[in-house]
Amino acid sequence: MSLRSLDRIRKTIGFRLTLWYSALFIVSSLILFVIVYFLISSSFRQEERYTIQSKLREFSAQYQRGGIEALKREVGFEEHSGNLFFVRVAGPRGHTLFVNIPALMGEGFDTGQIENRAVTGSGQWIHLPAKGDKGGVLDIASTSLTDGGILQVGMSRGEKEEFLERFRETFAGIIIPVILLGFTGGVLFAFRALMPIRNIIKTVRSIDKGRLDARVSVRHTGDELEELTVLFNGMLQRIEVLINGMRSALDNVAHDLRTPMTRLRGTAEMALRSGQDMEVCREALSDCLEESDQILKMLNTLMDISEAETGVMRLRLEKINLSSLIEDVVDLYRYVAEDEGIAIYIKTPGELFLTADHNRMRQVIANLLDNAVKYTPAGGRVDVEASRKGDHVVVRVEDTGIGISEEELPKIWGRLYRGEQSRSARGLGLGLSLVKAVVHAHKGYVEVYSEPDRGSGFMICLPVKAA
Ligand code: ADP
Repeated sequence: MSLRSLDRIRKTIGFRLTLWYSALFIVSSLILFVIVYFLISSSFRQEERYTIQSKLREFSAQYQRGGIEALKREVGFEEHSGNLFFVRVAGPRGHTLFVNIPALMGEGFDTGQIENRAVTGSGQWIHLPAKGDKGGVLDIASTSLTDGGILQVGMSRGEKEEFLERFRETFAGIIIPVILLGFTGGVLFAFRALMPIRNIIKTVRSIDKGRLDARVSVRHTGDELEELTVLFNGMLQRIEVLINGMRSALDNVAHDLRTPMTRLRGTAEMALRSGQDMEVCREALSDCLEESDQILKMLNTLMDISEAETGVMRLRLEKINLSSLIEDVVDLYRYVAEDEGIAIYIKTPGELFLTADHNRMRQVIANLLDNAVKYTPAGGRVDVEASRKGDHVVVRVEDTGIGISEEELPKIWGRLYRGEQSRSARGLGLGLSLVKAVVHAHKGYVEVYSEPDRGSGFMICLPVKAA
């Protein structure tokens, strides 16, 4: 492995997580061992001291009652029961009057040293280390006797020391597996913890290569990483929809511009070929004007929709009476409708005030009414109804027209979308997109309900006070 790749691994979060986890695991194991060792050894020490002190009290009582002989009997009895104690009675001048050294103790410790140690009285402890490097300690407690002498009782830490020694050896033996376990645990932990992050990186790489539909696989763990993954996928979904929407809008714009532009070019070409004929040129110029007006209208509406959708549309908010606005718009369409044999009915309260942009609202109602009249055959009817519902104003424009199929319903709000059956009718496929964008810009919403061959209904809901 090269130095550069080692350096890269060293900088990864996975490596740092592994190190932290392993270090924590190993240090915690060490601390646990030290605590357990300390607790066991101190409890051994306490138990031993307690045994020695209680024997010291017992032997001292025996001595006070029956002198050295009684003490010897008691010591012999203890030895017989397997309790090995070092016992020494010293006279007032420190010379030994009686000493009992169990055979093993005599071999392991230089008990002769005890005679040379000055003992001042009760409560004094002597800790005599074993001979050579055998390990072990002989703990001896002393007490003063009433005749001025000293009684000493001692016990070897032997067995307990051995147990602690084995404990230390066992730990030394398992420390390497503990380190390995800590490291393996660290690697596994880092691998699992960083799995969603790796998935996100993989997904971003796929998107970078052009796969816009790539998504991060969600692991249902209920943790923050699952939340991040779900949010990330949601964001990708929205971006994909937006990009696809922009792509298809651009395609549609290009497609829809080509026809009038070709017509414009053809008309201009014909006029040029006609030579000096003023009449033909005049007619061609008028056709060109009409075509360019149509193109301008399309471009302006597209701009309006974008502005409304991105929130940069400047709304001139004022208090308007929606009932009279509806009446005005219906008046404009009534003649067209009558010509087509369609009746328009209005149902509004006398006054219905709300805060909105008057011209934009006019555009919204006009577009809905225009569609209703356009897509309703002769003999049909259109109903325009407006009312107040709490803090909102609800407007419905319903017709008995051709209706919209279920597959087409979600598509009608898209820019430049025109229904299969509507291609022959005049229109740019931008009316409903503008309605939706303007209503959203007013913090309202739109809904559609329709049944093919029975009719359609459009409902807009607007807050009375624009936020
Ligand atoms: P346009 O009417 O210019 O085609 P719109 O954006 O206003 O564009 O409408 C989009 C499509 O929705 C229409 O082409 C038509 O298929 C469908 N549509 C809209 N309003 C109605 C309606 N009232 N009845 C039936 N279809 C409708």
